[in-house]
Amino acid sequence: MPADARPSPILKAPTYQQRTWTLPDDAVVRRGTVDDAARVLRGLTFTALTGAGVSTDSGIPDYRSPDAPPRNPMTYQQFVGDEAFRRHYWARNHVGWQHVRRTRPNGGHRALAALEDRGLVRGVITQNVDLLHEEAGSRKVIDLHGRSDRVVCLQCGRVISRAHLADRLTALNPHFLDEVVGGVRSVTDVEVAPDADAVIEQTAHFRPAPCEFCGGVLKPEIVYFGESVPRERVARAYAMVDDAGALLVAGTSLTVMSGLRFVRHAAKAGKPVVIVNRGETRGDPLATVKVDAGVTETLTALTALLTAR
Ligand SMILES: [Zn+2]
Repeated sequence: MPADARPSPILKAPTYQQRTWTLPDDAVVRRGTVDDAARVLRGLTFTALTGAGVSTDSGIPDYRSPDAPPRNPMTYQQFVGDEAFRRHYWARNHVGWQHVRRTRPNGGHRALAALEDRGLVRGVITQNVDLLHEEAGSRKVIDLHGRSDRVVCLQCGRVISRAHLADRLTALNPHFLDEVVGGVRSVTDVEVAPDADAVIEQTAHFRPAPCEFCGGVLKPEIVYFGESVPRERVARAYAMVDDAGALLVAGTSLTVMSGLRFVRHAAKAGKPVVIVNRGETRGDPLATVKVDAGVTETLTALTALLTAR
């Protein structure tokens, strides 16, 4: 990489409420096509870092994308500190789960799984909690921000399956889904956020389920704003970046440091960074090539180029 490809603009770190920002005037972004991306990655192994943009074509909205409705994501402090907030959260999550559990991987997920089969992708670090990479056949996946199919008790530490909790929540609130959203049939019409949170208002009478072993508070095994990613998981992700010759970033604006640090790590090690995302990302000044296009079609085309004989 030529020396001028490494400007060091001071990017002001946005807080998570900010949804847009502007690259510094002196930022150098190498915009390219999928062919440029293939040229950079050809002959290399690479690790993929993915975000919500990979799952939007599976029907999971990306609340950070430029045209997403404004949302204020829940914080850990709100969840543990306020019983009414928790009741509201679980009511919405109960609705959202009906949708999320039905989502299926798309061509972008399948492309990365196919590249792993070919030995080109060393693994996937994902900021998503939807497990669609695993479902598509990716074997080495680090779910950086946790997984929506598990729930943890904050008191005894037991981990419970989200599907089992869904049965308990339905038993405790037998008419809730029918009353609030007109039945499971129309749940897909409810706005569903990436963490299985759906927007509904009538939650005051919802009965959340306590831990059935100790009565403690249950929380999705998801890293919320205000929490940090477990150190051991971060270390495994760094090792996965170190294990490959390049980094492919797909479908994330890298708003939160938990993802951006891996881009900085790869760039610092002199590894090519390819970013595929519709819209600007905080990693753009570090990208060898930035492809500003849809994730599914770009990853599909990239895989065809890299696996062609
Ligand atoms: Zn417990």
